Amino acid sequence: MRFRYHQPVPDFYKIENPKNPKTIIKDNILKEFIDIVIASNFVGLSYSKLSDEFKKEWKIDWDNIIILKYVMSHDILKMNPSKEKCQLMDEEFQEVGIKAFALADVLREFGFEADLINPLDDRVSLRAIAMQSNDAVITRSNMCMFKEGLNIGFFMIKTSIENLPFKKENDMLWVSHYCSTCGVCVDRCPENAFDEDGKFLRKLCTAHREGCSKCIDLCPFYKRGYDKVKKRYGRMKNE
Ligand code: SF4
Ligand code: SF4
Repeated sequence: MRFRYHQPVPDFYKIENPKNPKTIIKDNILKEFIDIVIASNFVGLSYSKLSDEFKKEWKIDWDNIIILKYVMSHDILKMNPSKEKCQLMDEEFQEVGIKAFALADVLREFGFEADLINPLDDRVSLRAIAMQSNDAVITRSNMCMFKEGLNIGFFMIKTSIENLPFKKENDMLWVSHYCSTCGVCVDRCPENAFDEDGKFLRKLCTAHREGCSKCIDLCPFYKRGYDKVKKRYGRMKNE
């Protein structure tokens, strides 16, 4: 059983959802859950509270989303586009996905409803949900970037937990201005997947078809990390 495009999400759960799920998580239980997530090799969590407007737009009735973030292997990203690279990326994705099911089971065991959102179902954009967390931005190269880095993949769990530490403001919005001063991905894209105004052209990008990740490899956020680029941006603004 694997995650496949446009197929129902596979069922790797070992525990049923509780009949009367709890809605409030105590601090110590959330901390315990976060520790388990980190011990499972994820690098962090973000949380999205979906607004009524958002739910209406995407025709969903989910409220609370936990985002489980993992680092995509540097070795794989650095490979040239190829069938083998695509396969390795998919294998990594499938392996992490199994762990995400186990984490949903942990929440079920704690008494909460928890269901993995199908990561390969186009009916709702996971990136749009990620943006609702106020903890991510879309870069000029069309990557969904969290502070943990540019090479971050993620799985999402929808849950009955109402009191997750949702962020109200996004402190990463400066990135779009930084991107407007950089443009390395636009200049160096081998497929010219940007129009004359530097706007990303999805149809020309071969990231999904052939595994291109050149713009990640070249991006200052990947090379230096979020915090260092932010410091540099602060200095640039004061010059
Ligand atoms: S390479 Fe430059 S313009 Fe492109 S996403 Fe990275 S920072 Fe932004
Ligand atoms: S993934 Fe490759 S093709 Fe797509 S925008 Fe980046 S460099 Fe261009």
